[in-house]
Amino acid sequence: MAHAVLSAPHFHDEEAAYAYVEARVWPQGPVCPRCKGNEWIGKLKGASTRIGVHKCYACRKPFTVKVGTVFESSHVALHLWLQAMHLMCASKKGISANQLHQTLGITLKSAWFMEHRIRLAMTAGSVLPPMGGEGEVVEIDETFIGQKKDMLKQRGYAHKYAVMTLVQRGGSARSFHVDGTRGADLLPIIKANVLPGTIIMTDEAGQYAQLKKHFAGHDFTRHGAGEYVRGAGPYQHGRRLLQRVQARHEGRLLALRREALAPLRGGI
Ligand SMILES: [Zn+2]
Repeated sequence: MAHAVLSAPHFHDEEAAYAYVEARVWPQGPVCPRCKGNEWIGKLKGASTRIGVHKCYACRKPFTVKVGTVFESSHVALHLWLQAMHLMCASKKGISANQLHQTLGITLKSAWFMEHRIRLAMTAGSVLPPMGGEGEVVEIDETFIGQKKDMLKQRGYAHKYAVMTLVQRGGSARSFHVDGTRGADLLPIIKANVLPGTIIMTDEAGQYAQLKKHFAGHDFTRHGAGEYVRGAGPYQHGRRLLQRVQARHEGRLLALRREALAPLRGGI
């Protein structure tokens, strides 16, 4: 399939890609993602400087346009991200992570990650930034709600929808419909939504064993032992929030078809 539009410079040239994204994220010129200031900002130049690095002289920190967008903390070149977005939006049936991996020459892992973030951005209707960051805590828990179409009520959870909720302590929360609650169902979504510098809090369920490898820290509470508070801070594990999510979504989910939830699903 020919993609004449893919010959545009921002799909091939990294500097053009930054200029393209900057023009959209910063229509009035660069804005510091930390102090939101726009007066004391300079673009860093020089052979050793990475493309797109700006410095805010008010808070003395460097940043790029990627901070606070779906591109944050990704090592994949920005022009490849733009190609991935184009390919995902241009093909009627969507494009699989495997096709992205082959077409863009990136690892399958990267393709997975990008696809999750891009889908997330499209679902939210805006470029939703990842949660957490250095020194931040994100709590994760799952629950089961509603009743799947054509499935009778039974003991256990097989007839219910699985939902995972991520809560940034003192911040926002996001819920995802997931195919299941195994590590393989949850980890790609967690990685696409939470910055690597974050400390993760979960219960002690085995599917979270992998988290330590990907994040700054992983601590857990033991629901079974009645423990909901752990560590130095007043850890409010996500369970109470989940109960509220559950109550809020229960009625709505019953009316939704699985297809309507497809963009939120974790698997391919
Ligand atoms: Zn600043």
